[in-house]
Amino acid sequence: MDLKNAKTIAVVGLSGNPERASFKVAKYLKENGYDIIPVNPTEAEVLGKTSYPDLMSLPAGISLDIVNIFRKSEAVGPIVDQAIKRRAKMIWMQEGIVNEEARKKAQDAGIDVVMDSCIMKVHKRLIGRDNMKYDLIIVGGGPAGLTAGLYGARGGLKTLLLEKSMPGGQAAMTERIENYPGFPQGIGGPELMMSFMEQATRFGAEFKTEEVNKVDFSSRDKLLVTENGNYSAPAVIIATGSRPRFLDVPGEKEYHGRGVSYCATCDGAFFREKKVLVAGGGDSALEEAMFLTKYAGEVVLVHRRDSFRAAKVLQERAKKNEKLRFVLDTVIEEIKGGSKGVEQVMLRNVKTGEVTAEPVDGVFVFVGNIPNTQFLAGAVELTEEGYIKTGDLLMTSVPGVFAAGDVRKKFLRQVSTAVGDGAEAAMAAERFINELE
Ligand code: NAP
Repeated sequence: MDLKNAKTIAVVGLSGNPERASFKVAKYLKENGYDIIPVNPTEAEVLGKTSYPDLMSLPAGISLDIVNIFRKSEAVGPIVDQAIKRRAKMIWMQEGIVNEEARKKAQDAGIDVVMDSCIMKVHKRLIGRDNMKYDLIIVGGGPAGLTAGLYGARGGLKTLLLEKSMPGGQAAMTERIENYPGFPQGIGGPELMMSFMEQATRFGAEFKTEEVNKVDFSSRDKLLVTENGNYSAPAVIIATGSRPRFLDVPGEKEYHGRGVSYCATCDGAFFREKKVLVAGGGDSALEEAMFLTKYAGEVVLVHRRDSFRAAKVLQERAKKNEKLRFVLDTVIEEIKGGSKGVEQVMLRNVKTGEVTAEPVDGVFVFVGNIPNTQFLAGAVELTEEGYIKTGDLLMTSVPGVFAAGDVRKKFLRQVSTAVGDGAEAAMAAERFINELE
């Protein structure tokens, strides 16, 4: 069966009498393109379709989209049990059928339950629901997600990309990327990410700015919940990347946006000829500190150890930069300021214990990242640090759910490796879907 057009409705208790509600509803749905299966009807054949005594006797290959129940409340329990076993996606109980226990059971099993008699209202909901069904849903629009979108859509999958804010992720906040092949002089992060986006949408990937708040991967069609509704697809790629880690010191939250920043590309220009402090000793801290010297009069890089995690090439370049001063073996204890923003930081030398006050106008924090996996709430296996564990073909612990880019446990987190992940995950998702059908 073509997953894109699946609209199979089993009507339990369908009457052959054209005056009865069940007949009218089934006829209306049939005229609107739904495939009606009469279950336990009053006749052996209704609306020209063969009937079945119960849901369990339907042929195994039928993917049941909706079970529409026209039976008394006391008969609903066993029908719901069967609907759960047959992995129905929606149960529609006519208004007046009250079986709270069965309703709760169905909902706990991840089935959408509708209790209404108004055919128009339910039909509208069904149409809306069908519009929210995809082959592949990608969560996150950074380099990994956008590449997965390009490969998925180009491979003919109905592909949706959900991103909570701007496309491009952290790469779009990087002033210049010089280790992405194909651009010998380097390329601006925002420019590169815009072209990723253009290419993915050109091949038909649909892009929506919506945040996924909840997931349910327990059924064949995985469910992703945003404030606008429920999206579903048999294959999902999680490419939500990571967000900056905070220093967690007094004053950091208070002065966030008033001198404390996590993005040099976004805020660097506010510090022309001023003095800024950069915290961290990785690639980001060194790169962004050098970038900030374009604007600031002085940049002080504070690192908690006396050696850097950053690549050697960056360290050598940074050491040659005359506007950059290094303060090593030192941590920030507190950020202080006044009504206009940051004024000074309290620094503590971890070897001597000495505390000094350093007057600064801004503090840029680059002390690593935290993976964006909270919304998964344990739906897939994570490492202790919260990164997604992946196996063969970037599959997570849930079949059909893949992870790509910085969000997964991996050795190297770069735009180039995120691109490779995105392509591989999309092709693996396509293979997974083909094997389902
Ligand atoms: P990172 O490599 O994890 O480095 C984090 C830095 O912050 C480390 O120096 C760490 O110190 C320090 N740190 C961590 N927690 C701290 C705390 N509470 N207080 C003070 N210092 C703290 O993070 P990143 O630099 O953001 O890079 C993230 C990933 O992106 C890396 O894989 C990196 O290679 C990649 N990246 C690549 C490029 C590039 O290739 N051009 C550019 C940017 C980022 P310790 O060293 O003592 O642990």
